[in-house]
Amino acid sequence: MNYPSTLKFAASSTLRHLLAAAVAEGYHKIGQAVFQAEGEGFIICHAEDAGRADLEIFQNPHDAANIALYDDADAYRPLKTAPNLKHGWGLRIASLADLHLALDLLYPAALANWRALLRNEKIATPLRDTVSRQTGMYRVTGLITDEEAQGIVDSLCTPGCLRCIQWPIPSDATPPVVPMRDKEIPLLCIDACSLLIAEARRVVKSRLGK
Ligand code: SF4
Repeated sequence: MNYPSTLKFAASSTLRHLLAAAVAEGYHKIGQAVFQAEGEGFIICHAEDAGRADLEIFQNPHDAANIALYDDADAYRPLKTAPNLKHGWGLRIASLADLHLALDLLYPAALANWRALLRNEKIATPLRDTVSRQTGMYRVTGLITDEEAQGIVDSLCTPGCLRCIQWPIPSDATPPVVPMRDKEIPLLCIDACSLLIAEARRVVKSRLGK
């Protein structure tokens, strides 16, 4: 996707400038949350709740941290980018600074990773490099094959996480192209997370019969 020049220019500055430019360009979605201007401030809610009049309203941007903690069944969400953001809340906030804080609590590092992408910075680490530097009980993940790693991506990441993987599996491979959605701040995966590393350990140990 070709981004507007205003976004590319804003990406050379602070994250707050980038967010301001994105709002001005009509960006209104991140993960499963949507945000829109309301008076001097903004309101954020689950995308599937937009238009609902019976939302529980919160006023403090720090409330986003609690909203992100549990799913609709009150089960803990270990992965903030899993597609199970709680429904039924509205977060009414007073300023762009508070919007920045709230979005960062709902989807940590999303703005920073997006800015790096807009700057054409190479910040993704190939999976082979990530597993090669594991130590202790995770050192065994260095033995994972490319096929096993792809199987984990297909079974764990694709159905269970909204992040778009930016890292290749082999060290010398070209990073995947990240598909972009219109007017949506992307969620990018720049490093295999602890859930994937734990699954890689399980897969390798199972193959080795340990
Ligand atoms: S490795 Fe990345 S894409 Fe996969 S589950 Fe973890 S954060 Fe999501």
